[in-house]
Amino acid sequence: MCSRGRQAVTEFRQLDLLEDLKRTPPVKKAEATRNVLDLGNEALFAPPCAGGSRLEGRLHYAEKLLAAMGGSPAGWEYTGVVTDAGKAGSKCACEHPIRFEYHWKHTDGRTLITGSVCVEALPGIGEGIVLRMREDLERLNCERKEAARKAKLASEEKTVMECRDRILDRLKERFPRGHRLHHEEVSGWLGADDYGARETYRYWLGLVRASLRLKTPRGQVARLRGIAESLERVDGA
Ligand SMILES: [Zn+2]
Repeated sequence: MCSRGRQAVTEFRQLDLLEDLKRTPPVKKAEATRNVLDLGNEALFAPPCAGGSRLEGRLHYAEKLLAAMGGSPAGWEYTGVVTDAGKAGSKCACEHPIRFEYHWKHTDGRTLITGSVCVEALPGIGEGIVLRMREDLERLNCERKEAARKAKLASEEKTVMECRDRILDRLKERFPRGHRLHHEEVSGWLGADDYGARETYRYWLGLVRASLRLKTPRGQVARLRGIAESLERVDGA
């Protein structure tokens, strides 16, 4: 092992990562795909050649990263920006496939994109930076989950509105007189037939409105579908 490799091992021990490695069994590929979002780049990490140990893998890539940095991490600063390359993935400066890209900048203006795993084994990298990178990944994951939750909610609400509009159209078709009387300004008393037609329309409208007050979009859609089915079973007027 070259002197740089030995130095890397020393740093490695300081960070207690070697102990971590011994405790964690290697991640299988299928599992890695499933876990990649929560584990970050760790899940994609593998030794450079079959049969190599994970420690050897880390040192191999740490050395390649060090070379990409021009031989030393001095002058390089992690900018605090981490981006998600998505399923297509990206590549660390050490050439290892990654999903989450950590952006680095040198005082002379050069820039680099790295993963997180090889950086942890890089000589001269403090624990503070490693922790910051992990925190930034966690924050990115929180933001991603929040965005996914909002998108799901918006799509559910859209389904509710489509369901509601279909029923309202159908109500108008089935009870045209009631619909007209409900929307018209009616002066004076209505005859019994008109009154009945308007109240029938309003009864169904009331059911639709009540279903929209249910707590979840899912419940709302289920109730609206039930109403639509019942609506087909009654006589129109
Ligand atoms: Zn790397």
